Amino acid sequence: LTRAELTGRLGVNRSTVAALVAELVALGAVEEERPGSTHGAGRPSLVVKPCPERVQAVAAEIGVDHVDVVLVGLGGTVLSRRRRRLATTSPPPRDVVTVVRALVGDVLDDSAAGDVVVGLGVALPGVVRESDGCVRFAPNLGWTDEPFGALLTAGLDGLPVRVGNDADLGALAEHLRGAGRGVDDLVFVAGEVGVGGGLIVDGRPLRGAGGYAGEIGHMVVRADGRPCHCGSRGCWETEIGMAAVARALGVPAGSIDDVVERLGALRRAGPDAPVPELEHLGRFIGIGVGNLVNLTNPRLVLLGGLLRQVYPFVAAAVDAGMRTTALRAPAEEVELAVPGLGGDAVLLGAAEAVWQGLLADPVAGIRTSATMGQLRRRLG
Ligand SMILES: [Zn+2]
Repeated sequence: LTRAELTGRLGVNRSTVAALVAELVALGAVEEERPGSTHGAGRPSLVVKPCPERVQAVAAEIGVDHVDVVLVGLGGTVLSRRRRRLATTSPPPRDVVTVVRALVGDVLDDSAAGDVVVGLGVALPGVVRESDGCVRFAPNLGWTDEPFGALLTAGLDGLPVRVGNDADLGALAEHLRGAGRGVDDLVFVAGEVGVGGGLIVDGRPLRGAGGYAGEIGHMVVRADGRPCHCGSRGCWETEIGMAAVARALGVPAGSIDDVVERLGALRRAGPDAPVPELEHLGRFIGIGVGNLVNLTNPRLVLLGGLLRQVYPFVAAAVDAGMRTTALRAPAEEVELAVPGLGGDAVLLGAAEAVWQGLLADPVAGIRTSATMGQLRRRLG
């Protein structure tokens, strides 16, 4: 925004905006530049924009068999990234903390000693208690009531940690910065090994009484279907999760890499090559989406994670499946798409959770945060 726009939106005078901006410039949070084009006479108002290099958040995404960690600058720029495979599926939380700590150390090495790290946001496929990051239930990680937030905080020597559900964070990032900008009603479907959902309703995240809303992967779509890791049967994720995609493609269900590689080979074969094995899967994606359309009347449904790579092959089947379950009126208003932030939606959402804390009081937040140099010494 320009200084003039800030003055108008905040309803304060120009000198107050100048003083506030100067304070944030001194802290390295924002920078000012002359606008690209000038209209009319007079001196153009300076544009105030986030400075991505100096104030940073670390974000981690815990998958069933891998951990991704990125360093994100203010404004959402990914500055550095690392990925590590986990040796086992269903890894103990302490082992995951060790991996996260090592990867955080690696991404910090890419920054200058004086840069400020505001906190660590962590996304994982499970039901998370927001207040303390306790993982109440993550069936595909094999975790129940694990105090993961407390373990991480201890393991990262006091770096502020926020833990959240991967799909909730993906929905947040897409709503603020991705395909869902300006869309007040959207559903983000995070399809990996399991399937989660993040819902924005009337412009706000749908949380539910305990913050656990959106477990759409466990909507039952087939009462006599396959057993699910949650203990139920015929859940949506048994029909469209990674195991179902692997079954359809005829690859081993154990590795998401094999599934992604096979999808890549199909893509290289050309967009017109039909993939009949995936038709049934596409239909079931659509049946579940239709249920969500009936429930929340979204403007936009984003298919993220592995589903982002599946969707282009089965868009017609998804649409047909949706129309078998969705009522006509809400179905007329919905658009299906893939995330605008691509494969980074969940990671950027985890960083967003850190920024939201900072935005409440940026000056105090930056002044009390550790520098890269301090963190590196603490993490050894
Ligand atoms: Zn289930």
